[in-house]
Amino acid sequence: MWHLYICSGDPIFLEQFWMQNEAYSSVLIPGWHRMSYRYVDYTLMSTELEYYIRKLHSIVGNAVTEGRYMVFGVGSSQLLTAALYALSSENSSSPSNVLATIPYYPMYKSQTVLFNSENFDFRGDTNSWQSNTSTNNLDVIEFVTSPNNPDGELKKPIIGGKTIYDHAYFWPHFTPIPGPSDRDLMIFTLSKLTGHAGVRFGWAIIKDKDVYEKFLNYIMVADLGISKDTQLRVLKLLKVAIKDDGKPLFQLAYNLMRERWDRLTSVLSKSTRFSVQQRHPLHCNFFNETRLPSPAYAWIKCEKEEDDDCGAMLEEGKIISRSGSFFSAKDRYSRLSLIKSQDDFELLIQRFTELVSLENDSI
Ligand code: PMP
Repeated sequence: MWHLYICSGDPIFLEQFWMQNEAYSSVLIPGWHRMSYRYVDYTLMSTELEYYIRKLHSIVGNAVTEGRYMVFGVGSSQLLTAALYALSSENSSSPSNVLATIPYYPMYKSQTVLFNSENFDFRGDTNSWQSNTSTNNLDVIEFVTSPNNPDGELKKPIIGGKTIYDHAYFWPHFTPIPGPSDRDLMIFTLSKLTGHAGVRFGWAIIKDKDVYEKFLNYIMVADLGISKDTQLRVLKLLKVAIKDDGKPLFQLAYNLMRERWDRLTSVLSKSTRFSVQQRHPLHCNFFNETRLPSPAYAWIKCEKEEDDDCGAMLEEGKIISRSGSFFSAKDRYSRLSLIKSQDDFELLIQRFTELVSLENDSI
């Protein structure tokens, strides 16, 4: 039997929605269109697209955009480093200390290490930093991922101060929306909103003018702005996303995620070997009801003392997951992606059911 790769966060889960909306979401670009680096108003970013993003946030109620600046990036990945550049202190004798809370998205570390900047340095986990560092006036930049990748928690800052809110998953299909995020620096991505990771588009919402100007400088020097074709395609997709106040997209996406969680938890309820993260109900302002989160990933824990490599346990059932150490956590945990295609999900359920039935046969 071949292995099922259910490790990556490739968000193909909304393919069906976009097939149903093919006529409204397709783009045809003539050869002469948008050849310039800039728009006619001399900006690098489409003001029409910015208008639709603000409208989307006001419909969903997940971020305050009034009086805030906005910058587009090549995915939110580009904006994560732009944020470090914008928040780090250039004139300080020592680099800003970059922190995140375990389990954290590994890209924060990889990007910081790759850029090898004199202005910022990755220092790992907030909790160990707190217990090992006596000086609390050190310059810290903290990544707060809310909801978190991999465990779906709505994280809060541990250190405080300069904070980058990564809201990649702060959409009603993954979490109840308790209210609009009102932070100084918030980063969003199209990838986990509509599922178009390949389009490579993200945006930052920024309160402070100086920070905004540093973001713009970064985008200008790194890339001379982002693709106009991408911006046009995103505009077309968002116009569909906000149709009927976003209800068709978010209802379908939520139902799909909830069904996946119901089926996964039903299989896991028969297991003593594997467990999954606890989910707590919250009021969702967008759907106007209290509901459970349905995160993009299942954070599986192997319960038995001897099963300290959960990824290997899952691999016995031909399921390839992403091990805890990838997120600087213990390998007793492993992440399964629930946002891949329907076929991948069906296979995951089938293989997990077989794994759990083997467990029960051996009792
Ligand atoms: N932040 C988090 C927490 C993510 O999980 C991801 C993608 N897996 C990203 C940012 C980057 O997304 P993108 O570059 O596709 O916008």
